[in-house]
Amino acid sequence: MKLVFAFALALAASLACAQGAHHSPEQVQIAGKEYVRLTDWAKANDFEVAWLKRDELELTGRSARLLLNVDSCDARINGVSVWLLSPLVHRNGVVYIAQQDVQSTFSPLLSPHGNGGRPVAIKTICLDPGHGGADPGNCVGPNREAKYNLLLAQEVQKQLVRAGFKVALTRNSDSAVDLPARPELAKRRKADLFVSLHFNAAENAPNSVHGTEVYCLTPAGASSTNARGEGGNANWCAGNHLNEKNLFLAYQMQKVLTRTLETEDRGVRRARFAVLRDAVMPAILIEAGFLSHPVEGRKILDPAYRREIARAIVEGVLSYKHLLAPAPDLKTARR
Ligand SMILES: [Zn+2]
Repeated sequence: MKLVFAFALALAASLACAQGAHHSPEQVQIAGKEYVRLTDWAKANDFEVAWLKRDELELTGRSARLLLNVDSCDARINGVSVWLLSPLVHRNGVVYIAQQDVQSTFSPLLSPHGNGGRPVAIKTICLDPGHGGADPGNCVGPNREAKYNLLLAQEVQKQLVRAGFKVALTRNSDSAVDLPARPELAKRRKADLFVSLHFNAAENAPNSVHGTEVYCLTPAGASSTNARGEGGNANWCAGNHLNEKNLFLAYQMQKVLTRTLETEDRGVRRARFAVLRDAVMPAILIEAGFLSHPVEGRKILDPAYRREIARAIVEGVLSYKHLLAPAPDLKTARR
């Protein structure tokens, strides 16, 4: 009898132990970064994990579906492409996700914190047509990016004003504006959002590269999606105190742009562009299409297509504003 009791105790202890080990999120160091088991994260957040292919995983939750790829930063969150900060790692049959992606990619997109209960007031938007003056940006034949950035910005301005917003432009002619002066102007004009507008060009395979990208600032200590145009180092910069809102804005914008324009979804990306580093309000940089692509490039030259892009940008701003706003009854309850 005693023996049976002792055995039962030992069994209970080993079960508790196994359970404890199962629940404590095991952190491991991979390539100098903290990683956690994907299954631990999924379990803690009510996601079911399934392998779709040899290297593709599907995570299904109540309100989100994630597609992740082993050894890759390529992720899809509710159908929108988002580049992870570090690749998913598959080691000895276990898949790991970087802790930084749990905090800085999954959390802001899957459970946005809103505005801490404060109403989101978006009144003024600073539009930043990239390049200008001696800096033409991407040049494809006679077509200079700077010109089309400005034409797009003026169209977005027109539509935002019609929607009731105030708009500040960092330039309203083909003039040179220093990079630090752009977020500085946004701050002076007390802008609530900063949106930099660009058109892309591909040096390699211009006939096949096309689509939309939206950038926000890389979190401190993380690697940018592509190093192009990146200045400074991996240290904290002013714009990093808005990491969550930056990403949420970039995500909403990418979603609306790719769905409205039916463009190739090249994903939400991170970069330390100078205009994003110093912004003191949520800030993104839109690469609205490839001037170098024979079909997309021709569309960008067409005012009707730029009106469509502008319409999507306004919708992206509205979607960000409404999704971050607190529920109306919360506001009255606080009074
Ligand atoms: Zn540009």
